[in-house]
Amino acid sequence: MASKKVQKHVKKFARKNPTAFIVILLIFIFIAAGLFIIDYYNIYDLGFVDSEIKDDEKDNDDIIVSGELTVAFLETGNKYTGDAIYVKAGNTDLLIDAGSRNSSSTTISNFINNYVNDNVLEYVIATHAHQDHIAGFVGTKNDPGIFDLYEVKTIIDFPMTNATSQVYNNYVTKRDNEVSLGATHYTALECYNNENGATRIFNLSDEVTLEILYNYYYDHKTSNENNYSVCVLITHGNKKFLLTGDLEDEGEKKLVEYNELSKVDVYKAGHHGSYTAGSEELLSVIDPNVVCVCCCAGSDEYTDNPLNMFPAQDFISRICKYTDQVFVTTLITDTGFESMNGNIVITSNNTGLVVNCSNNNIILKDTEWFKKNRKWE
Ligand SMILES: [Zn+2]
Repeated sequence: MASKKVQKHVKKFARKNPTAFIVILLIFIFIAAGLFIIDYYNIYDLGFVDSEIKDDEKDNDDIIVSGELTVAFLETGNKYTGDAIYVKAGNTDLLIDAGSRNSSSTTISNFINNYVNDNVLEYVIATHAHQDHIAGFVGTKNDPGIFDLYEVKTIIDFPMTNATSQVYNNYVTKRDNEVSLGATHYTALECYNNENGATRIFNLSDEVTLEILYNYYYDHKTSNENNYSVCVLITHGNKKFLLTGDLEDEGEKKLVEYNELSKVDVYKAGHHGSYTAGSEELLSVIDPNVVCVCCCAGSDEYTDNPLNMFPAQDFISRICKYTDQVFVTTLITDTGFESMNGNIVITSNNTGLVVNCSNNNIILKDTEWFKKNRKWE
């Protein structure tokens, strides 16, 4: 009724004052176009802002987000898959894993030296005993390891392992040497249990916490080394980052069973995007907005089956129900390797989440490699 009345008045006005009516109409169009352009360039300037994440903020008005958190999923400088994740919160520097090979320490330090200004890493986490996660802590003659390059304050690592490899033994030697120089060493189980001076939650800054989650395989034996991985949740206001090392589906089921997990903003793809990780049991609980895959996409390092090469088709088929914001560090080529997204740098601040990759911000399903090798289904 009311809208009909308004329409009648507008028509009457337009008939009596055609010029004024056109001017008012044009003003409306200009304002609408202006608002659209502002919105468009905002998104463009920031590189990437996930709209879902912005919506979440509205539901959490009571959480005041100040300061910044940066989480960078790094390339490791060669054609081998591995993890190296650098976290900056206030003046605190945390490095989670240092893969993929001993010489990766140089690639990693070249990146993190842009942020570390006192040569101190307040925290280091080694998730499990595989070379693609710990080799860079050791280094080589020409590439000093992370423990050689930095003063490390606190080292957190896996309570259990079946490893007997040279790289694991070298890691233990270098770690224990760092402890003799003053570092504190805790296992993830000590952290979870708040034992021996360790705490389950570490305050990285006034706004950012690091929580050591409970992994059932911290204190239960398994033949799958990946399931010994240290699992952590980093929280900044209402923003959550879940990192599970190379935990595989049995481990993920236990993780869901024993921890009160809920929606996360960023999930580091479990086990480099393997078909054996990123299970529906986990994904349905964490419903991730952004997924970061640390791997050399399409490499035959671990399998001859093209569909199982990281990131595997089965992994993608599960992830695609939750988000298309999937980023991948590195890509295999005929002659070696190249950056896919490159270093995936995610910043959380009071405007939301910003993803800025060193090579480009193209999401996985829009890449040439994906179109040739994978299906979005
Ligand atoms: Zn791995």
